[in-house]
Amino acid sequence: MIKNRLKEIKADLSENITLIAVSKTKPIDAILEAYEAGQRDFGENKVQELVEKFEKLPKDINWHMIGHLQSNKIKYIASFIHLIHGVDSLKLLVEIDKNGRKINRKIPCLLQFHIAQEETKFGFDWNEIVVFLENETCKQLTFVDIKGVMGMASFTDNNMQIQKEFSELKTIFDNLKRDYFHVNEDFKIISMGMSNDYKIAIEEGSNMVRIGSSIFGSR
Ligand SMILES: *Cc1c(COP(=O)(O)O)cnc(C)c1O
Repeated sequence: MIKNRLKEIKADLSENITLIAVSKTKPIDAILEAYEAGQRDFGENKVQELVEKFEKLPKDINWHMIGHLQSNKIKYIASFIHLIHGVDSLKLLVEIDKNGRKINRKIPCLLQFHIAQEETKFGFDWNEIVVFLENETCKQLTFVDIKGVMGMASFTDNNMQIQKEFSELKTIFDNLKRDYFHVNEDFKIISMGMSNDYKIAIEEGSNMVRIGSSIFGSR
């Protein structure tokens, strides 16, 4: 089942798009089935669950932290995390840098932007990030590797609305690239799109989709 679903989704994605199989709440067996089908990138949203799965599963898996991360928990994933998607505050970025410094590892991160209408979704807005990038402390953060942006669209049936929000994130990415990251070849990831909206996200320029229920079934 999982293998077939993965195959179907992969068929939709061109080669430049990374598929993250979002395995939160799903058992080891389910992840192994996807792994055996060739899947290597997996996403989790809770640190404890992520660490448990990291310990039990093959070491060539790329683990993505896609949920809200608390500063005091960075230390548990700092040594192995492949990409932290939800960096949504300066404070968190500073703490990730501190953790990276301790173990001499540059930790890959995405800046999360608030594009949805809902109040509850975490993320920076444009003005905040500009203030930060113009700030001197930013240049001292040498143990974070900012590789792009991440966002979640509103939970709605209104495809026009979703499209508008993804397009907004793409514009934010383009502007950041132009103004601050043009010499940084690593800054190239646009993480947007989930089971229900990844096709729209891809049309709007996503190159990393995070898909859970369409692969593993509903949670
Ligand atoms: C759970 C989750 C997903 C996957 O959602 P599905 O609708 O199951 O595909 C993607 N991104 C984030 C941030 C999530 O928390």
